[in-house]
Formats: sequence, structure tokens, C-alpha cells
Amino acid sequence: MFKKVLIANRGEIALRIVRACRELGVKSVAVYSDADVHAPHVREADEAVRIGPAPSAESYLLGHEIIAAAKKTGAEAIHPGYGFLSEREWFARAVRDAGLVWIGPPAEAIAAMGSKTAARTLAVANGVPVVPGTTEALRDAKEAAAVAEQFGYPVLLKAAAGGGGKGMRVVHSASEIAGALDSAKREAKNAFGDDAVYVEKYIEGPRHVEIQILADQHGTVISLGERECSVQRRHQKMIEEAPSVAVSPELRERMGAAAVRAARAAGYVNAGTCEFLLDKSGAFYFLEMNTRIQVEHPVTELVTGLDLVQWQIRIAAGEALPYRAPFTPRGWAIECRITSEDPANGFLPSTGRINYLHVPTGPGVRWDSGVETGSDVGLFYDPMLAKLIVWGPTRSDAIARMHRALLELTIDGIETSREFHLRVMEDEEFRRGDIEIQWLERRLPSLLEQTPARRDIENAAMAAALIAHHDRQQAVAAPSAVSGPASGASGKTPSAQSAWAQTAWAQTARVESLRTR
Ligand code: ADP
Repeated sequence: MFKKVLIANRGEIALRIVRACRELGVKSVAVYSDADVHAPHVREADEAVRIGPAPSAESYLLGHEIIAAAKKTGAEAIHPGYGFLSEREWFARAVRDAGLVWIGPPAEAIAAMGSKTAARTLAVANGVPVVPGTTEALRDAKEAAAVAEQFGYPVLLKAAAGGGGKGMRVVHSASEIAGALDSAKREAKNAFGDDAVYVEKYIEGPRHVEIQILADQHGTVISLGERECSVQRRHQKMIEEAPSVAVSPELRERMGAAAVRAARAAGYVNAGTCEFLLDKSGAFYFLEMNTRIQVEHPVTELVTGLDLVQWQIRIAAGEALPYRAPFTPRGWAIECRITSEDPANGFLPSTGRINYLHVPTGPGVRWDSGVETGSDVGLFYDPMLAKLIVWGPTRSDAIARMHRALLELTIDGIETSREFHLRVMEDEEFRRGDIEIQWLERRLPSLLEQTPARRDIENAAMAAALIAHHDRQQAVAAPSAVSGPASGASGKTPSAQSAWAQTAWAQTARVESLRTR
């Protein structure tokens, strides 16, 4: 096992890796930008090295500086987390060339899966079903129209180098195709420096179901089962769960076997995920492979009992997987991504200081976070602050537990997605498991209608404090007028009928109804 590992990341995933290292008896080295001097991941790691100023391009993306930090501190391996440098083939190669161990797949496997068209070609050659479409970049609009005609509208134009939903366009008819191709190419060129775009059949109302795999250096590749990630906004996952209501044991086995075949074909080692679309008929199509640990890995951990980040480190250190058969999920896990975004305001990013943070606890609750009371939330990095993850014996137990945990969660000072998640947990369609990738976009307006602004809640809280104060003053002035020293805001109408007291009472009743919903 390694003695020391450097973590080339920040936020919740950096802290997650520190924890895995500590449990393995491995020392950890954090890197940080000037914006993260006081961040929990920096404090919790055994050592920390400053890389540069706040912008990622001048800090967390400076691969060579990070490698130098590893050399300087005597770290033997680098864990890249997700995002930043995690899927950069050149970085995986540079780490290896520097004589360090890369805690991830070989650079060649990242390359094989890095382009969507290359990954599709590899999948097809290995009997893994892909969405009908081309595996070659389109030459021009004429070819795009001909291909679209062959597969039938609607079709989806996709950037070969794509990621994060960029360079993607749904096309409903021949008249739209030239314009859509132009704009997809432009966006792809800007985002990835590569304007190759290809065509896929647009699948109506599928689920996003992905398979987690683990592969060691000794030829063992196993599936850890699926995650359901259909609750998406603008192609970004918001809520994930394991297992999926749409996956039977028989389908799990077939999807797992397909993912294992794709991983083997790419010479894959370490943790990885094959993403699939699952249509209403139960047919599944390979989308792409993510060659890193994923944000949503904890739901798989909770239903398999495995520590995926520890396994990433153990596999990189040469340990063999002791498992042979694919995993059967035990119980149900759900994850909500808690972001600094304002759902009531088009999910606009929110910035400021977290004045107060109360973290939910109790049975079956896990909180993976990179922030604490006093943390400043800016615009330099991803808006995801934390992940709230719960486990329950059944899906409905897990939903009830998530709802309870969200009610306990308090984050003051910035807007967050907490209320949005509460509304989803209360939603009948979600509770039935009646979800697919377009579900949230369709349902969002009615969900948000029921979401009170944080301002209302703060006003109500202030009103509750005022009313309690008012009651106490009255009790001092005329002890018989109130029913005792413990009488607070709840359960009793204010006896003084001033206008503000009545308003305060109404607000208090409102806050209580929000709390108990
Ligand atoms: P990216 O790498 O940019 O995230 P993906 O290929 O993973 O792109 O697709 C992102 C999301 O777009 C998927 O999770 C799914 O919601 C949707 N999507 C992708 N391909 C199709 C398709 N052929 N038909 C319908 N929806 C699709």
C-alpha cells in the first residue's frame, strides 16, 4: 500500500478521498487555490500545498504544478477525483512519466473512451448495443439530412468530444438540420477545440441508467449494479438512486455483462461507469464510459457495502479484487445534490458566506460535503456544495428518510437547492418511480410553484422570534395573561391584537406548515 497520496481536487470529493486514505492508513496531501485556504479538505489532509490563485486554470488545472507538489511532498500516487484533470489523458500520462502512480484507468483507456465516436465503435465491435446512429463525424448538412432520414426524426446531433451536454442539439425535421449542425459545431469547437459532430436517433422518454464497474490489474472486472440518474435538468443529474425501479435482476445481469465487456475491450482498470439509456421497452443503449469516480458513487456504496474510493486506491496499489460474482443491491439509496443555486430563480448561482450550517444526522443518513459554517461560496467552482445520501430497506423508506433529513438540513446565508429536493421527495410521480430523463423539465414548473422563497421562511422565523418575545414581555407585565413560562410561538394565539402580532402569527403558522409538509 502507498504511504502517501496526493489529491488533485477540492471540495467534497477531496475530503472523501482524505477519509479513504486515513482509513487505509495512508497519508494525504491536499492542493489548494487561494480561494480554498480555509477549506475543510485542506485542513483535514495531513499536508497541503498551495498551487495558485482562485481560477481553476491557474490552480486545479495546472497538472505540472500538481505533479511537482507530489514530488516535493514525497507522495507516490495521485488521485484526481472527478472533473478538473480526472479525464485528461495527457495528465494520466504525465503522472506515469513522472514515476508516480495514477489512481485511475490507464491513459490508453481514457483515450479509447474519451471520444464518443471511438467509444461507440468499440462498443459495437464488442456486442454492446449503442443508440442507432453514425460512428463517423458528419461531413456536412447534406450528409446529416440523409442520415437523419435513414434513422427517422427526431435525431440528436452530438459532439464527438462532448461532455456536460455541450454541443448537443435535438432536431425534429429536415428544415432544422443545417442550422442545428452549424450551432452544434460552433459550440463543440468552443468547448472542446474539436468540431466533430455525429448523429444519434433521439430516444423518447428513456431513463438514464448506469453501471458501476471495478477492474483490478489482474484481469478481474465486476459489475456493482446500476444507478438510476433520470432526474436531470439540462442534461445535468440532480438526484440519483440505486437500484433502479426499472431494472429487474435479469436486466441487471445483462447490463452488467455489457458494461464488463466494454471495460475489458478498453483495457480498463480501476473504477469506471458505463452510461446507458433504457427505453420503455426495456432495450438499453450504451452512451459513454466515464473513466473516473463519479459524483453519485455513494449510492452504490450504500447498497453494496463497498468503499469505492478505497478500492480505487487499493487497485492502483496492485491489490486483487476478492469478488467474482456481480453484486446484488441490498436496500435502497438516494442522493440529492445540494447546490448553491436558487430554484425559485431559474437555478441562478448564489454566492455569499454560509452563516450557519446544520447537518442532518440520525439513522441511515450520510453527508459528503466540502463546506461548513463560515465557508465562502463564490463563482469560481462548481455550485455543488454537498451531497445528502440516505439508505433505507425499501425505496419508500429511503424517500421518507431523505425528506426527514432535508427538513433537518439548514443552510443560512445563501440560496440552495434544498427546497427543490423536498418538493421532489413529496411528488407523487417521483414516489411511484415514474421518471425518465425529460421528467424533471416537464414537472419543474409545478414543483416550483409549491416552493416558498427563502425570504418567506426567514420572515416567518423572524416573526416567530418576535412573537415569542412579545409573549414573554406580556408574561412579565401581567403573569396571568399567558398560560405559563413555557408558552412560545406555537400552539397558541397571541392575546395582544396589535397588527404586527397578527402578521407574525400568520407567518409562524406558515413556517410550521412548511416544516411539517
Ligand atoms: P454528455 O457527455 O455531454 O453528458 P451524454 O451522451 O452523456 O452527453 O448525454 C447526456 C444526456 O443527454 C443523457 O443523460 C440523456 O439525458 C441525454 N441523451 C443523450 N443521448 C440521447 C439520445 N440519443 N436520445 C435521448 N436523450 C439522449
